[in-house]
Amino acid sequence: MKCPICDTNENWHSLDYLRQRRDLGFIICKTCGFTTYRRRSEEELKKFYERSDYNIIRRFAGTADFETKTRKKMNHRMFLGPYLADHRNLQIIDVGCSTGYFLELCRDEYGHQRVCGTEWNPAHARYGRHRLELDIRTNIEDFGPQRYDLICIEHVLEHIAKPDEFLLNLRDNYLAGDGVIACAVPIWYDFIGSPSVTAHEAGGFESILPEGHINVFSLRSFANLLAKCGLHVVQENYSYYGYRVLLEKTPPITDFSAEAWDMQEQSLVRQKAAFEAFVAGRFADAHRHYHRFPLALVKDIDQQQKSPAERITGITQLIAEMPNVDVFHWYLARVYNLLGDYGNAITNYSRAIRLKPNDPIHYWELAEILFKLEEFQRAAALYEKLLVVEPKCQFVPLTAGQPTALDRLGQCYANLPDDIPDACGTTT
Ligand SMILES: [Zn+2]
Repeated sequence: MKCPICDTNENWHSLDYLRQRRDLGFIICKTCGFTTYRRRSEEELKKFYERSDYNIIRRFAGTADFETKTRKKMNHRMFLGPYLADHRNLQIIDVGCSTGYFLELCRDEYGHQRVCGTEWNPAHARYGRHRLELDIRTNIEDFGPQRYDLICIEHVLEHIAKPDEFLLNLRDNYLAGDGVIACAVPIWYDFIGSPSVTAHEAGGFESILPEGHINVFSLRSFANLLAKCGLHVVQENYSYYGYRVLLEKTPPITDFSAEAWDMQEQSLVRQKAAFEAFVAGRFADAHRHYHRFPLALVKDIDQQQKSPAERITGITQLIAEMPNVDVFHWYLARVYNLLGDYGNAITNYSRAIRLKPNDPIHYWELAEILFKLEEFQRAAALYEKLLVVEPKCQFVPLTAGQPTALDRLGQCYANLPDDIPDACGTTT
């Protein structure tokens, strides 16, 4: 088997010993450090996604799926919102669009009418066609020859057997000359260092390397893939749901920068040990095994019950090392809030929101400070956003014993004078 990054043939080292199942064909390229699963063919993968077991687990088309996609939309608005707002009537395709929730956002919130998507899972596709009235087909070829201004491949490349061929096909045959590709991939090689993924979300070392995710990217191997496929990063974000980029065409570069495969292997070994320590509540051990482990670092500081001043110093140092981690800013904001230093609390909550725009607690805690300070207009805007992120806050308090966000919103508007613009920007 040829490596899709460096094109070397059969120079692999087996990593199966790291997994509970030892027959997965989990391998690393000894030339460039790229990691993947050998045994998955394109056909096998297609069958895997056509099955609907996963939908049943996620209560597909039910509340859990709605919640997941509501949160994902916040990331799209934050990252692609300015691009979508600055352009008119773009031709957009979402490859691997699931139910088409992103296309719905492009159409209904930004006015782009020419939207379509592809999806291998028939249940997802049908939901999008019927409920969201979208044109969703199986493959991009099904739409015929067509150039797109925006091609979205959100969390797709980790599922594709030959990601280089897949990307080159999109670039050469479907992307308009001045078009862009919006792409996101998980960086499993830095999994526990991933800014916005919590250990609780992951459920353990085994589940961070699911078999459906056949390509295990590091930031470097992903950059190598983009260079090989003649795509250049014009915008990036590595703070929510993996690494997210906006790409334009550029001449392909065949020169790649290799990673030492044995160092990469050690990084997985250390992450595994760190995970085990974390689950056992040994947070200092956890980040000793793998230093870029935000949750363990914060929990360690918290567990040591240091003074507020020491906590502020500790977290500030961590922010200098890893500025893209929302949980550091959130923790710092809470310490400042307890000290009554609302200015610094507000600044850090705002940063946490920019770094992770889909976490309800960020909006709630910041809004509560502004409410207390009687800044009702700013507070109202945040409660409104909270209701978008977490619609059930209309009826249920986010934290037990507190009012709902809708109750608070009512109190804010009751306190706003009639002659100023409301939180939506219109004049009342
Ligand atoms: Zn390679």
